[in-house]
Amino acid sequence: MAANDERKRVVILGGGVCGLYAARILARQGVPVTVVEKEDIFGGLALSRKCGNNFYDQGVHMLHAYDKAIFEDCREMMGSERVEVNLDARIRWAEGYYRYPLQFGDMIRGMDTLTLGQCVLGLFFAQLRNRVAPWEPRDCEEALIQLYGRPLYAFFFKEFTTRYWGMPPTMMSAQFVRRKMPRLTAVDAIKKVLAMVGIKEKPGRSVESALLEETLHYSQTGAETLPRAIAGRIERDGGVLYPSHLPEAVVVEGGRVRAVRCRNIATRGDLFEIPCDYCISTIPLPSIIATLEPAAPPEITGAAAKLRHLPIVIYGMLVRKERALDCLYVYYRERIFHRVGEPKNAGLKVDPPDHTVLIVEMTCQEGDAKWNGEDSAKEAVFTDLEAEGVCRREEIEEIHILRNCHGYPVFDFGYEPYHEKIVGHLATIGNLDSTGRQGGFCFPNMHSAMRMGADAAEKGIEYLAGGSRAHK
Ligand SMILES: Cc1cc2nc3c(=O)[nH]c(=O)nc-3n(C[C@H](O)[C@H](O)[C@H](O)COP(=O)(O)OP(=O)(O)OC[C@H]3O[C@@H](n4cnc5c(N)ncnc54)[C@H](O)[C@@H]3O)c2cc1C
Repeated sequence: MAANDERKRVVILGGGVCGLYAARILARQGVPVTVVEKEDIFGGLALSRKCGNNFYDQGVHMLHAYDKAIFEDCREMMGSERVEVNLDARIRWAEGYYRYPLQFGDMIRGMDTLTLGQCVLGLFFAQLRNRVAPWEPRDCEEALIQLYGRPLYAFFFKEFTTRYWGMPPTMMSAQFVRRKMPRLTAVDAIKKVLAMVGIKEKPGRSVESALLEETLHYSQTGAETLPRAIAGRIERDGGVLYPSHLPEAVVVEGGRVRAVRCRNIATRGDLFEIPCDYCISTIPLPSIIATLEPAAPPEITGAAAKLRHLPIVIYGMLVRKERALDCLYVYYRERIFHRVGEPKNAGLKVDPPDHTVLIVEMTCQEGDAKWNGEDSAKEAVFTDLEAEGVCRREEIEEIHILRNCHGYPVFDFGYEPYHEKIVGHLATIGNLDSTGRQGGFCFPNMHSAMRMGADAAEKGIEYLAGGSRAHK
């Protein structure tokens, strides 16, 4: 941008798909935009890294086509690199494999007749009660019981949730179920039956989740194609991308962000300022609070310290085997890992071709054995892969570890007031919008995160134009 360019500038913090897509919309409309990303590559959670001769996803990432406009744009940007793949995923449970998303018809195979009868009745009455006398669940346990009924909760969801999140549902907020819990087909079926007899549900309570029959979109190089394609368009349209840059201060003057001060952390370069007329932050809420200058009041920094994220660690493995799974990925309930994906089955090109790549996903804590890749953790992974018949340890030729300390926002019991305080404080800064998975503290899929980015961009454009849709 030339020094005498008078146009208003937007700075985007975070170059995951949300921040990138916001930048795409802005750059396409001729708005000068800069994306500041701390990692050396763009994509955030939805990235893959090339290690050796192969690409390893940070958790197998496939694009859903639910949002038509976003999908059409992604289709055009990815061009011939896009690969279509039918959703074919499983859940390993009770000595068997069940289809994902979880279907009641499959679940009942693991139940004796008495449990089955109890679960069906429990589910039916839970759904009926929600319509006739809606009630507010106090915590995640009550919310799961409200959705699935007590017997099904006791039979499946209690242990499943505890294992995945590392804490019992009583320690988690009811919001978790509204915003994260995936679809169960029996609930859909019962909702339909109740709707047919005129007992309708309040709108807007269910979570968007995978469909039973669905075409997903991937590429021969894994998740990296989409962010790379979006980044290419941003630069083509005049946007500026700063990978490996850490925003050290978001400078606020007169209730407005005036500039973002950052430095190149790869070269340990000098601090420099990017002038800013509008700022879209997609970085974690605690991070944006920590960068505000002048500093946020202790009450706000204290609230930010209460928001937790569950880290994820991925063991990407090159395996001397043609094929290891007979589907795209499998969820496990009783293993050290919670999901194993084989992206080759979705079109990933593997070198050498008679090998395969496995993406082993684990939730963890920063600095624990899984996170550090200690021998004990690797050993446990190998043992569980062998026990599941996925591969033998001597077939594993390479292991590459990918880490992200902001894998999942954690809806701890009682987190809401802290979250509200932070959102309230950020809302006092007129030209700052915090959005996306991290900035919104929520669980969108890629297309929803991109939609959040597009909405933020449109809001920014209106703000800069002094439009009627005043910001905040
Ligand atoms: C294991 C896993 C598998 C998934 N699989 C799928 C899937 O198959 N399909 C699907 O649609 N969705 C999937 N998702 C969801 C999807 O990955 C995310 O919701 C989406 O990518 C979020 O994008 P975002 O840009 O909002 O956030 P992020 O991707 O988290 O982006 C935030 C960005 O900000 C950067 N950042 C953080 N702090 C700073 C800082 N201080 N300064 C500068 N930059 C910073 C980060 O490095 C990152 O690039 C999956 C999620 C997980 C965890």
